[in-house]
Amino acid sequence: MTPQEIVQALEGRGWAATIVSRSDVDDILDVDSEGLMKCVDGRPSSHAAMNGPKTLGGVYAIASMRGARDLEGLTQATRDVAAAGHVPSVHGDDHAQPPAMGCGYFKLWKTGKLADLAPEGGSSEGLPPGLEPPRYSAEEGSEAVRAAGGEYETLTGAHEEQEVIINLVDSTTFAPNADSQRFVVDAWVAEKFGVDPARYLTAAAKTVELLCEVRKARIIVD
Ligand code: ZN
Repeated sequence: MTPQEIVQALEGRGWAATIVSRSDVDDILDVDSEGLMKCVDGRPSSHAAMNGPKTLGGVYAIASMRGARDLEGLTQATRDVAAAGHVPSVHGDDHAQPPAMGCGYFKLWKTGKLADLAPEGGSSEGLPPGLEPPRYSAEEGSEAVRAAGGEYETLTGAHEEQEVIINLVDSTTFAPNADSQRFVVDAWVAEKFGVDPARYLTAAAKTVELLCEVRKARIIVD
């Protein structure tokens, strides 16, 4: 997808989107192999290594987009993320019950809310297929990721995201900012893992639409 196509797709869902050059942002970071491949969630983390790629639910992004609905597929996704040079992770938060259900993406995927990627009240005609829910619980999932060598992080506080960053600049990311929360979708990851970028970004938009009122995106280009 070109940046312009992403803008059009988002505008079609009622969003406002702008394209911004990486030279016009001052907080873009290079991804490091010590960094967690972690959720797009903008809340502060219990973990220090924030210079890894941000994806929908961390490892769950890869499993869900592959249509891997069992623990075996999640374990394989965890190993593939590590083999690709990132620290695999999933997360919960400090108030969900059970805590591992504190990942909004996992919760939506698990409860079948992403089985259709159409905007609320809109048509799914011409949109990519949705995501069938996993057959395991949040606790089973986070346990499997840890057993395969991944990390579990706890996010704190309330969602206060004001925008979505869709980052197309290969091997870069943005760290969570407690004073100015944003969802960070490092979209370059899709291609790296053989995931259809259009389907991935449609799932990202649908996730944000179901979680909050944010309908504003900045698309970062090289
Ligand atoms: Zn999450």
